[in-house]
Amino acid sequence: MNKDCISLQGINKFYGSGQARQQVLFDVSLDIPCGELLSIVGTSGSGKSTLLNIIGGLDRNYEGTVLIQNANYANMDDAQLARLRNENIGFIFQAFNLLDHLTCWENVCLPALFDRRHQSALREHATEVLDRVGLSGKTDARPSNLSGGQKQRIAIARALFNHPTIMLCDEPTGNLDSDTGRQIIQLFRDLNEHDGITLILVTHENRLSQVAHRIVQIEDGRIASEQINTHPIRLESSGHIDGTDEVDQEHADPEKNAPNAAAPITGDRSGHQEAEPGSKT
Ligand code: ADP
Ligand code: MG
Repeated sequence: MNKDCISLQGINKFYGSGQARQQVLFDVSLDIPCGELLSIVGTSGSGKSTLLNIIGGLDRNYEGTVLIQNANYANMDDAQLARLRNENIGFIFQAFNLLDHLTCWENVCLPALFDRRHQSALREHATEVLDRVGLSGKTDARPSNLSGGQKQRIAIARALFNHPTIMLCDEPTGNLDSDTGRQIIQLFRDLNEHDGITLILVTHENRLSQVAHRIVQIEDGRIASEQINTHPIRLESSGHIDGTDEVDQEHADPEKNAPNAAAPITGDRSGHQEAEPGSKT
């Protein structure tokens, strides 16, 4: 059974107050089963980020109900919500939000700043997740010496650090060239398929949204359409990190889209399964 991981019921969102009060989400209801890869598309200003922030518990100022694995945000205080977020939800943004004075592994460990584990254990786990996202050997590098795609991979590793069951990705390829963007999106698809992470991908690029199982279009704060995608595309990688020689096989034959048919992106996945599907449900 594929129970709902995220349930939104009648979400309304307003910004501002008095005469400046403006409604930006209108009665948005959406159920997202565990393990789904969902794309949200829509033009700039349609409300995608606002919706994602509400789903992720970053914004509590809305009307309606948000349930995450049946837990109602409204019943949690700020500390409980912060804990649920830290333990269950990985965020990826367009800007990579890395700290350049820290190494890759220290950036990846940021969610564990208050973790009491020994530094060497943190570093070891950070190295595992860096391997998982295709950054083997970059444990001690500085982000400033890496490419945009590699920086986004660090941000993804950071989001994976605490074994999230949900990942929320807000225009994650907005700062990347199209080849690199495809590789990053394929990595998300891979994390969804192999690690069972429920993933919401916000993008305004229709082509990239085609990796998803379902594509929801938002227009002026409302769900305008919803499309089940029976043949999610693969954005094939040559295996080169940030390579420019990646082959785009978006029209590849559907057999290649079968679950678990994906070629490893990192080349070594053994021992790096970061999240057991459903382990936190
Ligand atoms: P998208 O991510 O689809 O581009 P947003 O969710 O960022 O859209 O914005 C939706 C609408 O809400 C836009 O009209 C935007 O101007 C407005 N908006 C977003 N954030 C704020 C804010 N902090 N204060 C006031 N209005 C905002
Ligand atoms: Mg946005």
